[in-house]
Amino acid sequence: MKKIGNCFLLAFLLLIPFAVVPVQSFGLGDDIEDAAEAMYQWTRTDTSLWNTMAEFCDYYPKRLSGSDNLERGIDWIVATMKSRGWDVKTQNVSVPNWKRGTEWLKMHGQLNKDMKIAGLGGTVGTGSTSLLAQVYVVKSFDDIKAHAAEVKGKIVVWNVEFTTYRETVAYRYRGASEAARYGAVASLVRSIGPFGMQTPHTGWMKYNDSLPMIPAAAITMEDALLLQRMQDRGAKIELELMLVSHSESNATSRNVIIELKGTTHPEEIVVIGGHIDSWDLGTGAMDDAGGCFVAWRALEMMRELGLKPKRTIRLCLWTNEENGTRGAQAYADSTKNEHHVAGIECDGGTFRPRGFSGTLPPDLKEDLLDAFEHLEIIGASEIRDGEGGADTGPLREKGIPVMELEVDTTRYFWYHHTEADTPDKLNPKEMNDCTYAMAVAAWACANR
Ligand SMILES: [Zn+2]
Repeated sequence: MKKIGNCFLLAFLLLIPFAVVPVQSFGLGDDIEDAAEAMYQWTRTDTSLWNTMAEFCDYYPKRLSGSDNLERGIDWIVATMKSRGWDVKTQNVSVPNWKRGTEWLKMHGQLNKDMKIAGLGGTVGTGSTSLLAQVYVVKSFDDIKAHAAEVKGKIVVWNVEFTTYRETVAYRYRGASEAARYGAVASLVRSIGPFGMQTPHTGWMKYNDSLPMIPAAAITMEDALLLQRMQDRGAKIELELMLVSHSESNATSRNVIIELKGTTHPEEIVVIGGHIDSWDLGTGAMDDAGGCFVAWRALEMMRELGLKPKRTIRLCLWTNEENGTRGAQAYADSTKNEHHVAGIECDGGTFRPRGFSGTLPPDLKEDLLDAFEHLEIIGASEIRDGEGGADTGPLREKGIPVMELEVDTTRYFWYHHTEADTPDKLNPKEMNDCTYAMAVAAWACANR
């Protein structure tokens, strides 16, 4: 870590007359311009953020709730925060404990082929033996309804073209139950993403209680398209699926919390953060170590620059976002007697920032739009309407304004929930820009 003290602050204050950041009054207190300029300059030269994120991901990958990796990773973060002088609090959270076991898929017939799969989180297994059945490929919920008679006793393959994550993920989430509705014996979903590199993408799924629970896994985009072509040629396709997974009793995980106390209204809180758990494939660098380390660095930067917010800015690294959001719920429950003024989440990848989206009252939005003129320099001054992220969801339900950092997501869903979610997918400059954006947003909420 480099030391940044008053000399540095003085050095760039002298540079302000030449700075590109527009100078005018925003009704946010006297110090938004100085603060934004200081934070902008600081994030031009910080070399610690990406390296720390990469070190964490390299040694604590596959941080699924219930895993040793997640808890050892949290221990490392707590120890690192303490070594940097933070007073760290943790909050115990009871989390689901699903375990992936042996899984494989083979095609038999004219083409014999091993196919890559990733069981979906929460799926039941095939039992102690493999399951052999014919395949039927469908393209949508309407398509399966129209071909209901052909699905019975078969393995359904959902070859659904990616439109948006929100829309397409429905097939991962409830495809198994929709296939079971028509008598299918297993459900295979084309990986949810716009682009494939032979990587299956896992993720959470849920069963409809009134329908049989059948095994559910993701296959690669390439294999879904292959199966479609074969079916279109009239081929009879047989697949053999082995899927072993089980759920154990709940485990204990932790939310991690540090804060910069407010000087004027310490009891009013702006919470920022990301989620520390990940899927059990890859290292969860994009999803969401990047978000955690960006939000943490934003707070650390303010402290190192000697910036003192009027309201308290708190960092929460939520646990169990991926398969339960129990960390977010536990956090919201624990804040019953506190006064939160905003929640700001970073969980869409820490690529080039574009602005924020959220559910904001008009007066706050207006102040933020003023403050975000300081983000024009990195192209991140927009505010779109949106719901915020999953971990600020329980706060939103309590009527607290929430927002989420919006980034260029071109590459995010290429790697999302796969073995390829590794630190090299993120770059230091973009992460530093995300830190600047998160810090300006937090500061503007804390100081208006
Ligand atoms: Zn995430």
